[in-house]
Amino acid sequence: MARQLCWRQSHVIKQADGALLWQLLHARLAGSEPYRASCIAIGSSGGVLDIAEFPSCPAPPLSHTQPVSALSPAHPRPASSQQTAMGTKIIDKLNEKIAKGESFFSFEYFPPKTDEGVANLKERQMRMAALGPTFCDITWGAGGSTADVTLDVARSMQQEVGMETMMHLTCTNMPVEKLNEALHKAKESGIRNILALRGDPPKGQDHFEQVEGGFACALDLVKYIRAEHGDFFGIGVSGYPEAHPDVIVDDAEEMRRNYWSDIDYLKQKVNAGADFVVTQLFYDVDRYLQFVKDCRSRGIACPILPGVMPVMTYGGFKRMTSFCKTAVPQHIADTLEAIKGSEEAVKAYGISLGTMMCQRLLAGGAPGIHMYTLNLERSAVAILENVGLITKAGAKQPAADGQQAANGSAA
Ligand SMILES: Cc1cc2nc3c(=O)[nH]c(=O)nc-3n(C[C@H](O)[C@H](O)[C@H](O)COP(=O)(O)OP(=O)(O)OC[C@H]3O[C@@H](n4cnc5c(N)ncnc54)[C@H](O)[C@@H]3O)c2cc1C
Repeated sequence: MARQLCWRQSHVIKQADGALLWQLLHARLAGSEPYRASCIAIGSSGGVLDIAEFPSCPAPPLSHTQPVSALSPAHPRPASSQQTAMGTKIIDKLNEKIAKGESFFSFEYFPPKTDEGVANLKERQMRMAALGPTFCDITWGAGGSTADVTLDVARSMQQEVGMETMMHLTCTNMPVEKLNEALHKAKESGIRNILALRGDPPKGQDHFEQVEGGFACALDLVKYIRAEHGDFFGIGVSGYPEAHPDVIVDDAEEMRRNYWSDIDYLKQKVNAGADFVVTQLFYDVDRYLQFVKDCRSRGIACPILPGVMPVMTYGGFKRMTSFCKTAVPQHIADTLEAIKGSEEAVKAYGISLGTMMCQRLLAGGAPGIHMYTLNLERSAVAILENVGLITKAGAKQPAADGQQAANGSAA
């Protein structure tokens, strides 16, 4: 029988259970006649499904599989005709994991600059979704500079890749109408989670500006989201184990005051409705552990996820740590200084350092690991494998990051 391929879409189903799978597919495809799912290819990890749809073809038996490469898109279905599945609040997932004593992990991405980069990122996210992150997030360019791409990628992450998605949203240098639009679009895309941030000043400006009728800090945004959208969104906020870079000073006494005032301010964000905290990157694990203790001592009881950025290049590490005023333990600085001439050596060291950090974090009580992937796969996945949060058997072999980055996914 001649079969005409009409479109193809990929979904991630956590339990590759046949009956459940068909139920889910038919639920998602309801109303999409004359198309019906008729061909399923299960990726080697067992987690990513490609669904090809043919008009008027009987569904094959559940055991039917065929290689993904055998399917090719012909006529993509317009986005508007696809059903929107509502996401879940991340805090519910975190609480469930914590109650069961299960550690978890999550991946952060940023919006690529080119269409090719967006396509590459989606491919990479498909592979990474199959590893079972509890959620994934996508950053927001200060002042709304990446608004369209962030919203598009966030929608694709939630609806097509099947990752529970948290969209970052910054509120300074952003008119209220733009914030409203972003929140409404997120809602329309089934996104239930927002990382509510103040944002940095746009390029070329030293300080952020409060726009007329706008917001001065993340606390204002948390209050606004709760006031306008009630309980619909789960809200994450930033936390700074070494205090926010703006208040990091040399004077020890002033630094101590700033550190505690930052924690008190964080408490206000939580009291206003934030569900959990994601920390700024750090390389001194003791700082995170102490920060969590200090937050608990001030009554901040919600999950505080450590943000871990694997060292991938020497230049990137130097830029990031200097921008964020991150404390770098001497032994890390010395090791990197000695191997900075070899990209491969730096990457390998980044993986072993990240592994040691994550092992200590988990042993010290961190509920999970939030990976700043920089849109790359190899280091983040290797670290999570090393600490046992993902199993090698369950993971597809990541493509070399260098090659993918060259293709634009990190653009
Ligand atoms: C996990 C994480 C994700 C991020 N994602 C993005 C992103 O997607 N896009 C982007 O542009 N930037 C992002 N940033 C960077 C962030 O926007 C900057 O660090 C920005 O300078 C502060 O934003 P914030 O939400 O932490 O600010 P806030 O939490 O509002 O405040 C930052 C600091 O300012 C001081 N402060 C502010 N208001 C008060 C107050 N009322 N009382 C006392 N102290 C106050 C405190 O020191 C506080 O820690 C991220 C940062 C983190 C940690």
